[in-house]
Amino acid sequence: MNMTGFSDKGLVRSSNQDAFAIGTMDDGSHWAVVCDGMGGANGGNVASRLAVDHFSASLKAGYRSNMSESSVKNLLEAAVNAANIRVFDKSRETKELNGMGTTVVAVLIIGSTAYFTHAGDSRAYCFSNGELLQITRDHSIVQSMIENGKLTPEEARFHPRKNVITRALGVEESVNPEFNVYDLNPDDKLLLCTDGLTNYTDNEGIASVLAENSENPAERLVETANKNGGGDNITAVVIENK
Ligand code: CA
Repeated sequence: MNMTGFSDKGLVRSSNQDAFAIGTMDDGSHWAVVCDGMGGANGGNVASRLAVDHFSASLKAGYRSNMSESSVKNLLEAAVNAANIRVFDKSRETKELNGMGTTVVAVLIIGSTAYFTHAGDSRAYCFSNGELLQITRDHSIVQSMIENGKLTPEEARFHPRKNVITRALGVEESVNPEFNVYDLNPDDKLLLCTDGLTNYTDNEGIASVLAENSENPAERLVETANKNGGGDNITAVVIENK
């Protein structure tokens, strides 16, 4: 496995409210988490940093070798819940942080199986044999409208409510993260990212960077989004299965 991560505030925003972490367990399993914070002048930064730190700590504390799929699901849910309650409590303790929250997308790779959890519109993709496949489904108003046939994906890209998410971490006392399992092939590349990448780089653009075999594909993806306007914070983590 080769893991790279890169985050940048982009060309328009004054601060970076995204956060990420990547790591390796003692037995060689790899993990990564990406969060896109929201709320207030500083709330977004605080929410995403707290969520990444508490998710990571909880994941590392609860992980052990040879876990069953249901144990991995429980572990990922527990890590999301630990992060959720920490962000929620902090937002209630501090007036300036009221209403802050964050998306989360995370992966734990054990052997050749990738286990994902997410809430919100930060995404996971797999680039396999030249094809870019979106693994997560956004928890957002526009995604629901697409699924109900009320909107095409192309219309969704420019919809005024495209930033409204229906699940997030830290805004309520409990959260309902989604769980996905994906079997990796040799040379597959996983991408975790915030919407600052996907709103400023289309699938073809992402696929062409991932096809390059560059030294730091995460940084190259962020550069591409900045070339296309960089109107939001941009975060990418790329994990190559080799
Ligand atoms: Ca964003």
